[in-house]
Order: sequence, then C-alpha cells, then structure tokens
Amino acid sequence: MRPPSGKKEQHTARAQVKPELCQGYGRCEEICPEGAIRLEEGVSRIERSRCAGCGECMTVCPVTAIEFDWTVDIPLFVERMIEYALGAVRKKKKNRDFITFY
Ligand code: SF4
Repeated sequence: MRPPSGKKEQHTARAQVKPELCQGYGRCEEICPEGAIRLEEGVSRIERSRCAGCGECMTVCPVTAIEFDWTVDIPLFVERMIEYALGAVRKKKKNRDFITFY
C-alpha cells in the first residue's frame, strides 16, 4: 500500500543499499510500494527520488543490506513530524489528549 503524499514527505529518510552485502534476493523489489527498487546485475538499486522512506525493504532483507543514514535524515524528519502533528492538533478545538512514547 502506498503511503499518502504527506506521509511520504514527512519521512525524509531514504533507504540505501550496501552493495557489498546485497546478494540479489529481490525481496525488497517485491515489497517496495513505490517501485523504487530494481535489481541490476544481481544487486538492488534504489531510486531515491521515488523512495518514501517506509522501511519495508529493510525489514525483508535477509542479509541486512539496506540501511538508513539516521544521522543525516532524523533532524529533518523530527521537524516535519512536529509540523504535521501541529496541523492535526489545530483542527481539533476540544477534547485534545496527548500521548508521547519513545
Ligand atoms: S524505504 Fe524501501 S520499500 Fe520503502 S519506498 Fe523506500 S525503497 Fe521502497
């Protein structure tokens, strides 16, 4: 299932393949909802401009050949998450409750 465009924009982190580990199983290509992955010469390639950052590919890779660079991507992700949360809260005038967990 493809994420809504706002969700895609919020998730700024993009998957990347470690080619030295990729064995070409292709599970990531099958599961990617954006069609951002294709096998080329036995190695998965991710088209970053199509990647939604959902992480599905990472969860199915049996050799952990897919990663995210959280040190670069997390600050912008958190900033956008706050913006989206604020937008959702502003619509609700009453009965607002907040739950935060780590
Ligand atoms: S994180 Fe992986 S599965 Fe999700 S859109 Fe990006 S390449 Fe596809």
